Amino acid sequence: MARKYVYGDKPIRTTTVEIVEKEFGGKATAAQVDAVLRHLFAHYKDDTHLNLVVNSVNCNRGHWSFNRTARRTDDVNHRHHEYDRLYKNGKVFEVYDPVLHGVFEIYESFDGKWLTRPVKSEFELQIEAAIELTSEKRREKLSTASATPERIIVSTYEFKRNPLVVAEVLALAKGKCQYCLKNAPFRREDGRPYLEVHHVEWLANGGEDSVENAIALCPNCHREAHFGKLELKPVN
Ligand SMILES: [Zn+2]
Ligand SMILES: [Zn+2]
Repeated sequence: MARKYVYGDKPIRTTTVEIVEKEFGGKATAAQVDAVLRHLFAHYKDDTHLNLVVNSVNCNRGHWSFNRTARRTDDVNHRHHEYDRLYKNGKVFEVYDPVLHGVFEIYESFDGKWLTRPVKSEFELQIEAAIELTSEKRREKLSTASATPERIIVSTYEFKRNPLVVAEVLALAKGKCQYCLKNAPFRREDGRPYLEVHHVEWLANGGEDSVENAIALCPNCHREAHFGKLELKPVN
């Protein structure tokens, strides 16, 4: 006997994604998808936003058992790959494309939570492998390696950031790091204090390119925000 579903002939998680794909040409907000579902099913009262999040590669979605399994979002053979179908870009959910959006992974954190992060680059993985070697082994490999780096052509996907956001946040910071509150460590050639504008919720995780989501940091705090454990809160 065919399985019965509350809404239509397939799981609502699947229908929700298909509406983004087919009704909105691959980009829609939760409110837009919600309106279609209410139109399709008179008795609809599911949580559309959650059904979108469960399918979104850059959202933490370990709440669902099938997302508590380590995988990369470009692993088309993974048994749960069918849930790696959307990318959350601010309020808009769009059809996920690993080439455009980058690859993410679901991993278990040291305290047992299932989280999402961008996958490390090949270079970072190679460095980690090299750190594992003994110094002797590294020296041995270095002795036969070429000291002239190979040149390659790289194409990368970048966000086109709004210069107004950068300028406004720098104006608000008045030359001080908005995290450690110390003065900028040096001035640029033109005399402006050197600070870097960072996004509290990363653009790669769907954060907005807005003054509210941006913070001016000194280079030390900025590095720590990316590679350490700095807990940032919006200040602007
Ligand atoms: Zn700082
Ligand atoms: Zn940053």
